[in-house]
Amino acid sequence: MDLIALAVPFFLLALLIELAVDRWRGTGYYRLNDAINSLSAGALSTTIGYFTKLLPILIWGSVLQHLALFDISLEWFDFSPRGLLLWLLALIAFDFCYYWTHRFGHEMSVMWAAHAVHHQSEEYNLSTALRQTSSGFLLGWIFYLPLFLIGLPLEVVVAVNAVDLIYQFWVHTQHIGKLGVLDRVLVTPSNHRVHHAQNERYIDKNYGGIFIIWDRLFGTFQEELDTEPVVFGVRKPLASWNPFWANFQVYHYLWFDAKRTRRWRDKIGIWFRRTGWRPADMEERFPKVAHPIDDFQKYDPAITTGRRRYIFFQFFCALLLILWIAELIVSGGLQAVAIPCALLWVTLYSIGVINDARAYAKRLEILRLLIAVPLLTALLPVASVPGTNAIQAASIAGGYIVLSLIGLQMADRIAPAVTNTHATQ
Ligand SMILES: [Zn+2]
Ligand SMILES: [Zn+2]
Repeated sequence: MDLIALAVPFFLLALLIELAVDRWRGTGYYRLNDAINSLSAGALSTTIGYFTKLLPILIWGSVLQHLALFDISLEWFDFSPRGLLLWLLALIAFDFCYYWTHRFGHEMSVMWAAHAVHHQSEEYNLSTALRQTSSGFLLGWIFYLPLFLIGLPLEVVVAVNAVDLIYQFWVHTQHIGKLGVLDRVLVTPSNHRVHHAQNERYIDKNYGGIFIIWDRLFGTFQEELDTEPVVFGVRKPLASWNPFWANFQVYHYLWFDAKRTRRWRDKIGIWFRRTGWRPADMEERFPKVAHPIDDFQKYDPAITTGRRRYIFFQFFCALLLILWIAELIVSGGLQAVAIPCALLWVTLYSIGVINDARAYAKRLEILRLLIAVPLLTALLPVASVPGTNAIQAASIAGGYIVLSLIGLQMADRIAPAVTNTHATQ
């Protein structure tokens, strides 16, 4: 049972409720381009995850089989008082490992390259929670190896992992203030807002997943201060709505330095040293300009209202595609989802390009739609769409393309409206 997949409809419902509250209160915590970019990163992470999550599972399973110190039976984890206590202990042990994964995810360059995606949003709302990396599978699993050395069953670790992640959803909101004693024990919205800040005082703080006690123990706790309002985002802004670039940006910076620095020690070391560290020759030849936080401006290229509506429509279609993929993976496995995933990724990329207000956005979108016709027509009959035959499939695909082309054409006829209304916030 995939607990995270089960939780997704509730995540989306909560997100819609928060959006309604945001509009009602006039707080302006949501922007369409930012929320769509965060959800696109989440969709990318989930679908790329179909192809990558087997790697850590295989390693963990193998460590458990060959190196486990104790033989802990899965049957002990039942719903008796003893079983529940074991579940709780497993969750605490997992959260402890999560703390260290997360801490290294910020403090070691190569791990920050993967984790940075979660922090690039310059807004803070429930959509930020779903903004997840696609390359976490590369190194993140290492920190959970102790659990398997102890002998915790794989099923238990997978379950507490899901609980830990699901818990963290609700803390990504600005609508909940301080929570008294809870802020001292648990990761709460206030504690986690600090974690998403780019203010000097808040950087590299509050790494916990469920329990904030680890931060208190290891000296990384920082309370949210009334005197220091949180400025969300990262110090080196992404400045793009492209979910692929979001995943490559920090790797690219590291690669740039590793390639050009002169000493071999630095070429290797740069990946594993403290985040932000650069070889002396690179600092000298390619200095990075620091931007004072007082000058910070959110990234928000202006596009027309028509294009915003068009993006909303396309993202809604992408959500339907994700649902279809989630169904296909169960019935047909990886082979069945490869092409629909490729279609989804191209769609998310194109949406990003339109949001970025690139000059070639319209041409790219027309090209994407033309490629989508044969792909969708070929795929729909094989999917589990009840009673769909080839002609109906072509009609659905054709209808989507025609609607999209008309929408795209009309989008530019609607009077341009500047969208960066939040610039003064
Ligand atoms: Zn983080
Ligand atoms: Zn977060």
